Amino acid sequence: MPLVHMGDMLRHAYEHRYAVGAFDVVSLDFITGVLAAAEEKQAPVIISLAESHFGYFDFELLMSAVERAAQRTSVPVAIHLDHGESLESAVHAINLGCTGVMVDASSLPLEDNIAHTRAVVEMARACGIPVEGELGYVPGVEGEDAERHPGEVVYTAVAEARRYLDATGIDFLAVSIGTVHGRMKGEPRLDFAGLAEINQALGIPLVIHGGTGLSDDQFKKLIENGVTKINYYTALADAAGRCIHHNGQDAGAAGYTTLVRGVAEAIKQEAARCIDTWGSAGKAEELLAHCRPSAPVEHVILYNTEGLDESGVNDMMAEGRRVLSAIPGVREVFTGHAVQDDAGYRYCWVVRFADRSVIESYRDHPDHRKFADTRFRPYAGGRISIDFEDSTPGS
Ligand SMILES: [Zn+2]
Repeated sequence: MPLVHMGDMLRHAYEHRYAVGAFDVVSLDFITGVLAAAEEKQAPVIISLAESHFGYFDFELLMSAVERAAQRTSVPVAIHLDHGESLESAVHAINLGCTGVMVDASSLPLEDNIAHTRAVVEMARACGIPVEGELGYVPGVEGEDAERHPGEVVYTAVAEARRYLDATGIDFLAVSIGTVHGRMKGEPRLDFAGLAEINQALGIPLVIHGGTGLSDDQFKKLIENGVTKINYYTALADAAGRCIHHNGQDAGAAGYTTLVRGVAEAIKQEAARCIDTWGSAGKAEELLAHCRPSAPVEHVILYNTEGLDESGVNDMMAEGRRVLSAIPGVREVFTGHAVQDDAGYRYCWVVRFADRSVIESYRDHPDHRKFADTRFRPYAGGRISIDFEDSTPGS
């Protein structure tokens, strides 16, 4: 199953009044549990990786697992950077395979938030990747009690939201209407009237952070008022924690594998419960018919050189790998020497782009131009260059 375009995914949810779970993952058990729930419920799903969690796992390694796991499922999946802290993080996430990014500059004054968000949107749009912005303040950090990251809820104001959308061009908006990250103290009171106004004024998919602890009825009202993506982590982490704690009571429990037994299943059950509540169960097939795949493109160049000896070619390739792989939307840069001595072309580049849109933005990127004009083209006399899209059946 291909990854799908997250913009198409959330538009479908918006038009059909349901919400897709954006579950934050921190380990293989989370990935396995969440995707098993989505499969069982035939629901579209978003796998989120929060920058605030990067101390707990190796982002690059876990991304490989998320991507591979997504390809093996039968349901549409999107991969999202949650709470991206900078333009650099957003570029890095896209280059590692995220198909959506969140930019969180909501703690800044409005004009600074706008400037910061707009820079991320411009970059991401050139890569064909949608962006979630945030306005207002949802206290806390994923999975940690809000008391440890205090601050008052700052409600999203309609006029500011309109201005923020117009000035940045974001695809989805995370709103602050009374939820907090982590565990809630007492009954959460949500501003549904404010949410309805924002939805009316903006007409784009809305996002809720801090979904843990809300009632089924509150979720229903959120979805009725334009919420199509619900960020969810704390309750999954609590389910995993309870399972480990329970295993630990066992007299014979000593080792790691004994302690974590059943964790993926516990996560799966909680995610499945959410999927049922949020109305995304059974939507996979219909949604797939309406979504563009989020598919990479292979930019292939075969070439021979003039005026460079072997070590000169190797230096040029090494510089190219370094410079080109930092360009937004470039997933991978492969340089190769022909295996056969009599090959028509001695060398190749295979540059993997995150999406079709990157063909153009890469070509025009100043770092690419400079490298190509000074280090490559003057020496690559004979060459051919072609962009290929994946045509694997069913992928
Ligand atoms: Zn959040």
